[in-house]
Amino acid sequence: MTDAGSKRRPLVSGNWKMNFDHLQAIHAARDLGLRVQPADAGPVDISVHPPFTDLRSVQSVIEGEGLPIALGAQNCAVEDSGAFTGEVSAAMLAKLHVEYVIVGHSERRQLFGESDEVVAAKLKAVLRNGMTPIFCVGETVDEREVGLTRDRLASQVEHGLGAVPQGAVATMVIAYEPVWAIGTGQPATPEDAQEACSWIREVVARSVGADPAGQVRIQYGGSVNADNTEPLLRCADVDGVLVGGASLDAAAFVGIVRAAAIATR
Ligand code: PEP
Repeated sequence: MTDAGSKRRPLVSGNWKMNFDHLQAIHAARDLGLRVQPADAGPVDISVHPPFTDLRSVQSVIEGEGLPIALGAQNCAVEDSGAFTGEVSAAMLAKLHVEYVIVGHSERRQLFGESDEVVAAKLKAVLRNGMTPIFCVGETVDEREVGLTRDRLASQVEHGLGAVPQGAVATMVIAYEPVWAIGTGQPATPEDAQEACSWIREVVARSVGADPAGQVRIQYGGSVNADNTEPLLRCADVDGVLVGGASLDAAAFVGIVRAAAIATR
């Protein structure tokens, strides 16, 4: 739907999930910092998303060492404060200089019962607190097999965008993460990723207009590695990757960043 000449700046994000205690996280962030070269980070935005308990430590490494890496979180509460035992608010994340918050990851939807309504409320919380949501959408294998991929993506995107201020949509990141590709070693082909990301952009255009649709960044996520990143990022509507397993290994993650930088040339 867009031509490659007008592509947006790629965002490579590492979702550490529930891995690394704060000492391991410090080590991982330092390791990453030693490996990321200016030539890699120049044309690409990079974010890492540690567990909540690691955020303060990773913030200190990133800011203390001036690393070209943005701090991200994996989730947040709907409310900014109050009697919500065990929750961590977007307001608290913003105080730690978190820039990106993953919202609606399929593990949150499937394992913790997050509905489209809860996801929409979290998108609002992230934007209200001045951060960028990485809004995850994606179909299950069953939905794919019965031809429901487009319907599922449209419904998830419309629910989310319907809740946020229209003017904010261009600043958001949407991550297309087919559930069947996450952690399976079976990534979508570049053709499938492009088709889905182009469709998502079309749904955004239908919901809020062509201009924001041309500006919103759409990542692909699901079994991304250094070998499949460049072909994925050469697709006209794929503006980055959301990486799970491979982000736990600094060398592998930097290989992905490097491949993303090559794809911009
Ligand atoms: C993810 O969980 O967002 C993800 C993409 O995981 P993986 O890269 O391991 O498939």
